[in-house]
Amino acid sequence: MFDKVLIANRGEIALRVHRACREMGIKTVAVHSTADANAMHVRLADESVCIGPPPARDSYLNVAAILSAAAITGADAIHPGLGFLAENADFAATVEEHGFSFIGPSPEHIRLMGNKVAAKEAARRLGIPTVPGSPGAVRDLAAAEASARAIGYPVLIKASAGGGGRGMKVARNAPELARLLPVAQNEATSFFGCGEVYLERHLDRPRHIEIQLLGDGLGGIIHLGERDCSLQRSHQKLLEETPCPVLNCAERERLTALAAAALAELGYRSAGTLEFLYQDGEFFFIEMNTRLQVEHPISEMVSGIDIVREQLRIAAGAPFGYRQSDVNLCGHAIECRINAENPDTFLPSPGRVTDYHPPGGLGVRVDSALYDGYEVPPYYDSLISKLIVHGKSRNECLMRLRRALEEYVIGGIDTTIPLHQRLAVATEFIDGDYDIHWLEDFVSRPP
Ligand code: ADP
Repeated sequence: MFDKVLIANRGEIALRVHRACREMGIKTVAVHSTADANAMHVRLADESVCIGPPPARDSYLNVAAILSAAAITGADAIHPGLGFLAENADFAATVEEHGFSFIGPSPEHIRLMGNKVAAKEAARRLGIPTVPGSPGAVRDLAAAEASARAIGYPVLIKASAGGGGRGMKVARNAPELARLLPVAQNEATSFFGCGEVYLERHLDRPRHIEIQLLGDGLGGIIHLGERDCSLQRSHQKLLEETPCPVLNCAERERLTALAAAALAELGYRSAGTLEFLYQDGEFFFIEMNTRLQVEHPISEMVSGIDIVREQLRIAAGAPFGYRQSDVNLCGHAIECRINAENPDTFLPSPGRVTDYHPPGGLGVRVDSALYDGYEVPPYYDSLISKLIVHGKSRNECLMRLRRALEEYVIGGIDTTIPLHQRLAVATEFIDGDYDIHWLEDFVSRPP
């Protein structure tokens, strides 16, 4: 096992990785920007190294500074967390070339799945159904129009290198396609450094269902069931639950078996997620995330498996200590993403936290790097806390969620807690009767 791990991230996820390392007797190195000098992950790590000024491109994305920090501190492995460099194949390769272990998948698999057109092609080869769409990237308007006619309007224009729900455009007819194609290509170039786009049929009322998997790199795959992440705003997940309230056992078995077989065939290593849209009893692959995900804790709560610990064990070459048949998924879990945002306008709300009282009690978990007096910096993602609740049944879980939200006090800044409180008593949510478009409509209703 590793002796010392450098955590190339910040915030709650850096803390999450630190916690797994600590419980395994592994020493940790935190890296941080000057804006994060007082961050929780920096305080708790065995060692810390300042790697640059606040902008992420000069610090958390500064590969040379991160590698130097690893060399100076004598770390033997690097965990990228999520976001920043976690899905950067060149970073993973560079880490390994410098003699450190990369706690994640092989650079080849990150690269393959990082291009969504290539990922969809790979999925089809592996026998996974995909959303009907253009056969590959669309080169020009004529090719896009021909594809759209074959797929049927409305179509979604997506960036091959896309991520974070950004830059997608719906075209309802040919004139809209002609207008939006260049806009989407320009946005893709400025967001992702690659203007390549492709088309997909725009499904009108799908759910987003994803499968959490772990691979040992030798063809051994364990799945931890599905997560329903349909509650989204601007294609960003806000609340996730497992199991999906509407999937039946046969559908669940079909999907998990399909996903596990595909990753076994790839010889996938580490944690990964296959994302699907589900509509009218059919599943369509949309993408694979080759990293730990924000919503991983709900799968941990129902399976009792620490996913970060598994990532560390796999990277160190340890075999799974259990089989799929040993994995028991028990009860129900829900995660609320608490962002430093105005709950009505969704504008960021950085600043000083003047009061901090997280909820507790049976079945309540809070993954957060907040503390009383903490200054939420304006430079990074607005996610400041994840409230995760677990119950024997979905109903118990919902009751627990309501009381935990009621207890949670974060003073001084705006957060999405009031929105989660509204959501937790909404009839459609209670009934599990929602698709990926529902939340958008819900947030625009008067409270
Ligand atoms: P990203 O990598 O940017 O997150 P995804 O491909 O994972 O992009 O899609 C993000 C979200 O956008 C999905 O969860 C879903 O809500 C929506 N979406 C993606 N593809 C489609 C589609 N073909 N039809 C309708 N909605 C879609």
